[in-house]
Amino acid sequence: MKKIALLGSTGSIGTQTLEIVREHPDLKVVALAAGRNVSLLEEQIREFKPRTAVLWEERDAADLRARVKDLSVTVLSGMDGLLEIAVMPEVEILVTAIVGMLGIRPTIAAIEAGKTIALANKETLVTAGHIIMPLARERKVPILPVDSEHSAIFQSLNGERGNRIHKILLTASGGPFRGKKREDLGQIRVEDALNHPNWSMGRKITIDSATMVNKGLEVMEASWLFDVSLEQIQVVVHPQSVIHSMVEYEDGAVMAQLGTPDMRLPIQYALYYPKRRSLSGKRLDFFQLASLTFEEPDLETFPGLRLAFTAMERGGNIPTAYNAANEKAVSLFLDGKIPFLQIPEIIQACMEHCEYEREPKVEKILETEAEVYAFIESRW
Ligand code: NDP
Repeated sequence: MKKIALLGSTGSIGTQTLEIVREHPDLKVVALAAGRNVSLLEEQIREFKPRTAVLWEERDAADLRARVKDLSVTVLSGMDGLLEIAVMPEVEILVTAIVGMLGIRPTIAAIEAGKTIALANKETLVTAGHIIMPLARERKVPILPVDSEHSAIFQSLNGERGNRIHKILLTASGGPFRGKKREDLGQIRVEDALNHPNWSMGRKITIDSATMVNKGLEVMEASWLFDVSLEQIQVVVHPQSVIHSMVEYEDGAVMAQLGTPDMRLPIQYALYYPKRRSLSGKRLDFFQLASLTFEEPDLETFPGLRLAFTAMERGGNIPTAYNAANEKAVSLFLDGKIPFLQIPEIIQACMEHCEYEREPKVEKILETEAEVYAFIESRW
């Protein structure tokens, strides 16, 4: 029986993780955490019977406590609750499917407690990769990627220990606006940006996909996870999302992982690594695949991707500024307060405004986040 704690259980990755647990009796959820969705968390507690559950606000936790008083579950709240479930003695794997920088502290706590991390939360490595990766190496804790591209790279590295990576080919669907030019994007509506051609995901990451900021975050994540320089990461637009990413070795051999666009595969792979288990759902049919095509990314139309390379080159707390600015800008866009094209403009302005620190500790990362939020509130 593999025991799991799941942060972000009510979200897109969280609910798909629970679909896998539902199909596999040898997986047991011992703790669940969510933000505000009391009703769905209650349903999940009734179905999966965790020992502990967490909601962000104490008043929501009190509501949930009243709703589940017939069950033997402890309901906690806030960061203390997240930290508590990250280190529960029976937990073997912590799935971090929470959104935002909130994931950093529970991830650090879990690594210190020797838990395996199934990492979906990109923000953790983007902002605190310099803390997380050395700590995981020191504690010999595996960080298993859940993001489909990073899982594909991870799978393409299997059996290649000791062989030098020449290049990582990080594939991108190109999002709903692939092929468009800057002048076509002036009047983009929220619903157009939420209409992803291949993947069904949470709202924030779907907008990130439309701006290609998501790929930018993935570039930074890949650099930390696989210890490669930015020069070794090439973004390849592949609209069919069949090849989930590739690794090119010194001899020119390219290893790839292919599959249907189904997040359950990378999630399940992380939960059972290094074993593969059966998975329901569609399979690739090569006779149905008309063609697989590849393009260079358009960095003029999608400057969010270019800015990610700049942020990572500068390092320190600049990736935090990039990420925090994007979070706030996306939320302003979703609320109809700024146009689509202003998202990368805000990111760039925040990267320039932020006071640079080369080796930020967690406190400084969170301070940078707050500084960026305040700057955006004062200007937009
Ligand atoms: P969603 O927005 O769908 O879900 C976010 C989850 O985080 C929800 O369960 C939400 O709870 C929870 N949450 C939000 N705020 C808090 C809080 N203060 N305390 C506790 N829980 C909180 O996001 P996704 O599932 O799409 O993404 C999650 C992470 O995984 C992101 O970092 C994303 O970049 C990454 N990722 C996502 C992929 C995808 O396909 N969706 C692919 C690869 C990576 P509630 O709903 O109750 O508010």
